[in-house]
Amino acid sequence: MKRFVCLLLALALLPGCQRREDTARQSLFCMDTVMDLQVWGADAQAAAGDLAALLNDLQDQWNACDEESLIGALNQGTTQPDPQQQRLLDRVEELSRRTGGAFDPHLHSVSACWGFPTGDYRVPTREELAEALKEDDWDLGAALKGYAGDRCVELLKGYDVDRAILDLGGNIQTWGEKPDGTPWQIGIRDPRGEGLLGTVSVRGTMAVVTSGDYQRYFEADGKRYHHILDPKTGYPADSGLSAVTVICADGLTADALSTALFVLGLEAGTRLWQESGDFEAVFVLTTGEVFATEGAALSGCDYEVICRED
Ligand code: ADP
Ligand code: MG
Repeated sequence: MKRFVCLLLALALLPGCQRREDTARQSLFCMDTVMDLQVWGADAQAAAGDLAALLNDLQDQWNACDEESLIGALNQGTTQPDPQQQRLLDRVEELSRRTGGAFDPHLHSVSACWGFPTGDYRVPTREELAEALKEDDWDLGAALKGYAGDRCVELLKGYDVDRAILDLGGNIQTWGEKPDGTPWQIGIRDPRGEGLLGTVSVRGTMAVVTSGDYQRYFEADGKRYHHILDPKTGYPADSGLSAVTVICADGLTADALSTALFVLGLEAGTRLWQESGDFEAVFVLTTGEVFATEGAALSGCDYEVICRED
């Protein structure tokens, strides 16, 4: 009997028997936003630390406001991108073409006219905007967090980790499955309220990215000027939307499309979705009405479903 009790005790002490899953959680301020990384699995601690280092590294390379950064040097014409960096630049150009230019990775001068990169907000003159629109200096602000999500997923594949959920400042990147088999539930913020508008369910590796007029804006003469710009005019996009969420397996695509759909508006955004097969979207109008594509798996609010046949 004594031996039996000892055996039970020994079994209980074996790491595998009573194994509580290792978890790591890390917050950081990066890419001008608060990020929150949660990782589960044996290598969780090491992976979370390396994810944070990767994110900081990407920020240092692609911060268009920093003349010393890679993108700063590209804008001054004093360096050449390496093959991996060139691939990113090629992909953002391709996404710009795919969206008819609504996603435009060359708006740094225009954004600077409004003071968005520095926080010194002001309303520029039409002449200033017209001059700035002639510039073609790189600004990957609308795509970098999504690309960072993809790079994080690549990194996680090299570790003994089970799953992760990365909040990259409004860009949510999931990886792996929850142990109980249920999908990840990702909250979508109500653009005009404090709480959540609703929730989307996703499985496996997925990016859920929102672009909204509430994320960065200033008010002047009773008017709201937000940071998502219409590349045709240089003014904040005024397409009748207050937020767009894109759900896509590819983070870079999700991020670029969320910005593009915001610029395009509901009608042209719906057409882009209908001719595509790689993303779903939730559109929130300035009136508060919500429209979601048929695969968006949105719950928690009333909305109209957008179908392929429409
Ligand atoms: P956030 O960065 O707040 O998540 P977005 O992904 O929509 O939001 O990116 C907005 C940023 O991208 C702006 O701050 C600006 O740097 C840049 N930008 C603004 N308008 C556009 C546009 N039409 N296409 C590409 N980049 C844009
Ligand atoms: Mg974006």
